[in-house]
Amino acid sequence: MVEENIKQKIELKKYISQSQKKDFHLCKRLYYLKHIEGYSLKQEHLSNAVKIGQLWDKVEQVVFGQATMDDVGDIIEIFEIDWFDVVKVKALWKVKEKLIDPDTRCVCQKTIEATVDIPDLNSIDGTLRQLNIKGILDRAYPNYFVESKLTTRPTFYSEPYPATVQIGTYFMLDKTLSHCIMELTRPPELRPKDYENSEEYGERCYKDIISKPSRYFIGYNRENNSFGITLYRSEFDLDELEFSYAMILHQLNDMKQIGFESFYKEHSTCNNVYGRKCEFLPICEADNTISPELFLKHGEVILT
Ligand code: SF4
Repeated sequence: MVEENIKQKIELKKYISQSQKKDFHLCKRLYYLKHIEGYSLKQEHLSNAVKIGQLWDKVEQVVFGQATMDDVGDIIEIFEIDWFDVVKVKALWKVKEKLIDPDTRCVCQKTIEATVDIPDLNSIDGTLRQLNIKGILDRAYPNYFVESKLTTRPTFYSEPYPATVQIGTYFMLDKTLSHCIMELTRPPELRPKDYENSEEYGERCYKDIISKPSRYFIGYNRENNSFGITLYRSEFDLDELEFSYAMILHQLNDMKQIGFESFYKEHSTCNNVYGRKCEFLPICEADNTISPELFLKHGEVILT
């Protein structure tokens, strides 16, 4: 049975982003809950890895004049970030300030977008014939961009093939970009000891980071006080990537005819959504009941 409101919601979707594409491939129900209905887990219930990543992003924004220390305080409070994760970020930042010269001549959080026409395939049967794709660059410079991540798995982002969806999409959207610098920072794995207060623990983290900066700041270059791994446009198969976006559009056209059931659950993914349990497990396990204690509904779908 076709559910008219779902048909409408899909037709009203104005764009897709690289992160929405990833979610679409992981689990159709996840994509539906997050990007069509606009649900997300409340900040305080997110995993520690997501919370510390958010904190790092905010601290980075302070350096580039996009946020204030009050904003950093707000993130710590709203996300209820554990004290030891705050200490880790402080220690990393203290070392980064000492070793790395930030190039502030950039536009932060720059939005880029383009429209992709779907190829003229016989199977086309729908009203959506163009796909709007949008992306946000962490930092844009005249002919390149920088993506910054705090991650325990830097290799996930330092090689072109697995980074194709995110980085390739940005190259696809802006033809003037020649390369990307991935600034990958690894959080300390040291745990606080029973006898340590936050100052002592912070000092231990600081000493560990400053003694081996290449481990924490991937691609650290002592000579020019920089770090990062460079990925070039020529390393990505952008035609293949564009075609894969077109196939999503085909599938959405089919799915809107079928309705809600077509956003089926991918149970094999529930325990491994980007290496963690899916945030929507409490909804799926409770037969689609959504607890307002756990989830927020956004007016707009989230673009990341
Ligand atoms: S819990 Fe499983 S089925 Fe439900 S949205 Fe997440 S991955 Fe999909």
